[in-house]
Amino acid sequence: RMASPALLMRVVASAYSVAEKAATIVRNVMSAGDLGIVEKAGPNDLQTKADRLVQMSICASLARKFPKVTIIGEEELPAEDVTEDLIEDSHCEEILKKPCPDQYTGIKEEELVIWVDPLDGTKEYTEGLLDHVTILIGIAYRGKAIAGVINQPYYNYEAGADAVLGRTIWGVLGIGAFGFQLTEAPAGKHIIVTTRSHSSTLVNECISALNPDTVIRVGGAGNKIIQLIEGKASAYVFASPGCKKWDTCAPEAILHAVGGKITDIRGNPFQYNKEVKHMNSAGVLATLRNYDYYASLIPNTVKQSLVP
Ligand code: AMP
Ligand code: MG
Ligand code: MG
Repeated sequence: RMASPALLMRVVASAYSVAEKAATIVRNVMSAGDLGIVEKAGPNDLQTKADRLVQMSICASLARKFPKVTIIGEEELPAEDVTEDLIEDSHCEEILKKPCPDQYTGIKEEELVIWVDPLDGTKEYTEGLLDHVTILIGIAYRGKAIAGVINQPYYNYEAGADAVLGRTIWGVLGIGAFGFQLTEAPAGKHIIVTTRSHSSTLVNECISALNPDTVIRVGGAGNKIIQLIEGKASAYVFASPGCKKWDTCAPEAILHAVGGKITDIRGNPFQYNKEVKHMNSAGVLATLRNYDYYASLIPNTVKQSLVP
């Protein structure tokens, strides 16, 4: 008789299917046309009906299967009964077929923390920049991001009605990352990807210091990590507070699974234990390759302005 798959693999396999269900909700809310926009901290910090429904769907679906896992979602929602139509019960069989890395086979439910960004790039979602949007489910163990799922609900949407819409990228440290084609950025070029809707003087000062050939301004932390692993950008640089643990957990696991590196602007790794402060106050620096080169060019004045 086959031993049942390790908990970590079952969580990732379920998160994959839960993220696909979430993508359907994101597309349905948009096509129904009533986004139900609410301002949180201000006009650049929005929540839509999609953020709310997707968080309920992801958190309730995973909590039902893994009741002792800690699940932390971005949105504060009133305690409300989740309707059965939001629950996803299935999982991805392909993922269950992969062997769990030895160091993770003994993990218990109580030891996992799942960080959920139900819709990353909400500002862009409300402005119709649909391919900036991702759904992020990050899985942490002993404070470290070890696995993640990024769903991009509108991948391919500019390719026309015949193209398959949406994709799901997943990864586990020690296994790798799947659902995309790993591509190196052009050699010798410095292409920086950064925020589109949360710029500041410091953000721009930091980018200038890196002597970029090109600066790509797009929404979403998930989207920016995709730009790195698909070779569209050489570094993700965000010298500002504002990004939270649910923005970086899934992207970090996937980037690290393919040999990249993400830290704050000062070079400190992120921690993902359940007690940690949510805000990544000291910004973000991420690359697939040549991390040390970009880190060496960050001015000390910028580092000193960002307190972890
Ligand atoms: P961006 O690159 O601007 O899309 O930001 C990446 C993630 O961090 C998104 O989830 C944003 O909502 C969040 N974020 C970054 N800066 C801020 C800010 N100043 N206020 C609120 N959220 C922010
Ligand atoms: Mg986000
Ligand atoms: Mg969000």
